[in-house]
Amino acid sequence: CGIVGYIGKRDVAPLLLEGLQRLEYRGYDSAGVVITSPKATGLKMVKAKGRVRDLEARVPKRFTGTTGIAHTRWATHGAPSDENAHPHLDGENKVAVVHNGIIDNASELRAKLIADGVEFRSETDTEVLTHLIARSTAEKLEDRVREALRHIEGTYGIAVLHADFNDRIVVARNGSPVVLGIGEKEMFVASDVAALVSHTRQVVTLDDGEMATIKADDYRTYTTEGSRTSAEPTTVEWEA
Ligand code: GLU
Repeated sequence: CGIVGYIGKRDVAPLLLEGLQRLEYRGYDSAGVVITSPKATGLKMVKAKGRVRDLEARVPKRFTGTTGIAHTRWATHGAPSDENAHPHLDGENKVAVVHNGIIDNASELRAKLIADGVEFRSETDTEVLTHLIARSTAEKLEDRVREALRHIEGTYGIAVLHADFNDRIVVARNGSPVVLGIGEKEMFVASDVAALVSHTRQVVTLDDGEMATIKADDYRTYTTEGSRTSAEPTTVEWEA
């Protein structure tokens, strides 16, 4: 239902929780956040069924980092629960995915992955994406995401964080909005400008079939086939 992401220098967890709160008006049944930092070796994740404040209550004291993605979920596949809340991780806890939308061929993909020995931790359609990305042998994270998306039928706005590529967040859009927020040595991503406008008014709205990589000081957009697209930011008008 709602996505927020950040990469920069600030303490990321409070920023993401604030962003999720700004998306509350859209409605949701659970929420979650995963974070890392350039020096970290892994990902730290917290999820909870219920409100953003239920999630906040579970965030441990030293939940620090400067990069992260977060989600509010409106369940379509699998009941609202802690396990079904996003983000979803692969078996090695390296790939984290948050997803808005519906993967139409999820049960087919899930059956194939299970036959191949993959263990699922949730009932969501989203989790197939996590495993597909984790299983790609492409060198670049962008190509792993692109390969995974080739198998997907349905709608998505996604944000992907990878423990081995923690200088970036990769996002993609097909039928579910994704906007980038361009800051000063920091970048934001969200499903709705409402989550960004308190930080920046410079936004890039992705089209269907478009992907983006955001780094703290740089961003680029391209099609799911890999050709670069124009990424000139526009200024959003917003009454505070
Ligand atoms: N289909 C996904 C799920 O049920 C995402 C739902 C959403 O957009 O929040 O987990």
